[in-house]
Amino acid sequence: MTVKVGIAGAGGRMGRFLVEALAQPGYDAVLAAAVERPGSELLGSDAGQLAGLEPNGVLLTDRLDAALAGIDVLIDFTSPATTVAHARACRDARKALVVGTTGLDSSQQAEIDAAADLVPVCQASNFSTGVNLLFRLLAQAAGALGDSVDVEIIEAHHRHKVDAPSGTALSMGKVIAKQLGRELDDVAVYGREGQTGPRARPTIGFSTIRGGDIVGDHTVLFAADGERIELTHRAGTRMAFASGAVRAAVWLPGRAPARYDMSDVLGFTGEDTVA
Ligand code: NAD
Repeated sequence: MTVKVGIAGAGGRMGRFLVEALAQPGYDAVLAAAVERPGSELLGSDAGQLAGLEPNGVLLTDRLDAALAGIDVLIDFTSPATTVAHARACRDARKALVVGTTGLDSSQQAEIDAAADLVPVCQASNFSTGVNLLFRLLAQAAGALGDSVDVEIIEAHHRHKVDAPSGTALSMGKVIAKQLGRELDDVAVYGREGQTGPRARPTIGFSTIRGGDIVGDHTVLFAADGERIELTHRAGTRMAFASGAVRAAVWLPGRAPARYDMSDVLGFTGEDTVA
């Protein structure tokens, strides 16, 4: 059965790549709706043309309810408040939801979890295959190195990114903290300044770089006395995230209501589940 996909934020940076990814051969899926924010000057534009493709006849609309009626699954890369509203709408309309938006606070996350009680939701801070493989490598490295190293996470993104550190960096921190028996909230250090004193071993430090058009770089540094390991992922194009999210959208409809992540879509087993 061809999966009918709606894209929320279709005029955004990720939205345009999602439209392009859906048009690639190999997915049994079709773009059935493209949603943008009320008041956007892009409303009425052809989603294909906006993505740099031939026109596909799907015009950007702000009528989410009408869009939901004609789709099996909504892919949402917008903003936290919008994603919460869309999660409620998907729950009420009993439609599957793929969440790519990052920077949700705990009450916003609770709304996503509530939707997942009634509909299947796939949420990932990073939909690229490479990063999801890296999550597993990080768990392996942390398990092998244990408390003998200092762990630092360095990430870089384009100047337009509005949340920091990135959702991916936080997911990496969660994977490592879990493996080491720590709670990330207890050990995270978000930047340093002034008289910080010496570094405490259990802390996990985050450093954030913002500039230019960097799509997304992440390095995890395991530093010991005399040697260090650096595991790095660099995204060269947003297509790396978009194709993963489309893969999730094809996989999701018909699944039992629950919150899934990209490791489920990719068929990774084990307990290194992250969001
Ligand atoms: P963007 O600002 O370019 O795009 C967001 C789009 O959402 C905009 O076009 C905006 O008009 C639209 N929007 C806002 N309110 C809306 C509404 N009510 N209805 C429909 N559309 C609405 O941002 P972006 O760079 O595309 O990133 C979007 C989100 O995706 C961010 O949270 C970012 O961190 C996240 N992201 C996640 C991944 C991942 O793999 N999970 C990868 C890249 C970006």
